[in-house]
Amino acid sequence: MSAARHAVLAGALCLAAVPAVADMAATEALRDAVTEDGVMTHLRSFQRIAEENGGNRAAGRPGHEQSADHVAAMLEEAGYAVRFEEFEFPFFEENAPPVLTAPGIAIERDLLRTLANSGSGDVTAPAVPPSGSPLACEASDFQGFTRGAVALVQRGTCTFQTKVGHAAAAGAKGVVIYNEGTEGRTGAFRGQLGDPAPVPVVGVPADYGARLREARPEIRLAVDARTGTRSSRNVLADGPEGTTGKTVLVGAHLDGVPEGPGINDNGSGSAVVLETALRMAGLGEGGLGGGEPPANRVRFAFWGAEEVGLVGSRHHLQSLTEEERGRLAAVLNFDMLGSPNPGRLIYDGPAAIARVFRDYFASIGLEAGSTPMRGGSDHAPFARAGIPTGGLYTGAGEIKSEESAARFGGTAGQPYDPCYHQACDDLTNIDATVLHQMADAAAHAVLTLARDPEAGKDREPS
Ligand SMILES: [Zn+2]
Repeated sequence: MSAARHAVLAGALCLAAVPAVADMAATEALRDAVTEDGVMTHLRSFQRIAEENGGNRAAGRPGHEQSADHVAAMLEEAGYAVRFEEFEFPFFEENAPPVLTAPGIAIERDLLRTLANSGSGDVTAPAVPPSGSPLACEASDFQGFTRGAVALVQRGTCTFQTKVGHAAAAGAKGVVIYNEGTEGRTGAFRGQLGDPAPVPVVGVPADYGARLREARPEIRLAVDARTGTRSSRNVLADGPEGTTGKTVLVGAHLDGVPEGPGINDNGSGSAVVLETALRMAGLGEGGLGGGEPPANRVRFAFWGAEEVGLVGSRHHLQSLTEEERGRLAAVLNFDMLGSPNPGRLIYDGPAAIARVFRDYFASIGLEAGSTPMRGGSDHAPFARAGIPTGGLYTGAGEIKSEESAARFGGTAGQPYDPCYHQACDDLTNIDATVLHQMADAAAHAVLTLARDPEAGKDREPS
């Protein structure tokens, strides 16, 4: 019966006129087992882990390490073959806010920013502009520069790295970069050096730079930071191999930003993936607990270091051979599923995967929209490699439109998640109802794709 049903559905995929209906009965037991309380229990664990580890679950820090151990232990207990996949990622962390003091010239604390990958140090020296161009893009701009001074240079034309390289080579003990002063480039700014710098480097607004350039006072410049690489890890949990030799890869990033506990971003997606994996095992689905393996193996992934540049998911993709990539029938990504001012959004990816979600929401009469597949989460490396990819999303810092509020409720003119990447992204920053709706949709899609021997066969649009 199952094979025949799939054949009919596969045939219908190319005929837009034929309304597809989700096979709801086939996933009912799993959806019943995936409960709001089950998902919220995982979120409470993530909140507690953050509280016990300095308030965050960021990559390379104990809150993420403990989160990884926590999910790995539960998955192993449920019967999955669990492994950690280690990798390195570039690391920069400030131990304290930067300091810049100059007699008679006050600067507001939050207008002063350390450039990422700045060196550390506490220097008291005169602030001196280069003798040549203030942009400091050429080594010759520093002719006659007083060794041991702090270089005062203008943003623009060349990279921060180039300016800092020339300044340090000329003997500067620190670098202050002031904004260009052109339209839109006058205030405080963030910047990143490509390589770790040997001296402290901060950015300041244009008008502050102008005053320093005029007065050339003796200043104190201090940065207290750590740079280098750290290791982190993905958690991978495999069910047994099915009949097709293919795999459905179901992932969520388990790390957060250093600013907060990361409960919506992305405790929510992690909790949904974990709950789906545990309940599937409990029901004997996915080939565990004495059940038959589905057509496609299911692999659950809890990516590390997403917030510092999708490092974990990229690493996993790179570790796969061409042949292994070819055996990925589908990659699902769940990143932010419980936003407090939510949309119900489906990744606008390959038709076959998006349709599984769309048909599901249509079948239960819930409004669902679509979101373009941008590069900002762990689906992106796989999508770029031509692997069929999909997922769900309830919104981040974007402002909800009138149209979106009319469709999904909530407040227009406000962000989907006002606590995005902030300390307040805690347990109170979750809409538990929408999170449960998303969990059911995810569970339905995972099981539907796992059982579909045709999944991933339509890599070209039909
Ligand atoms: Zn995220």
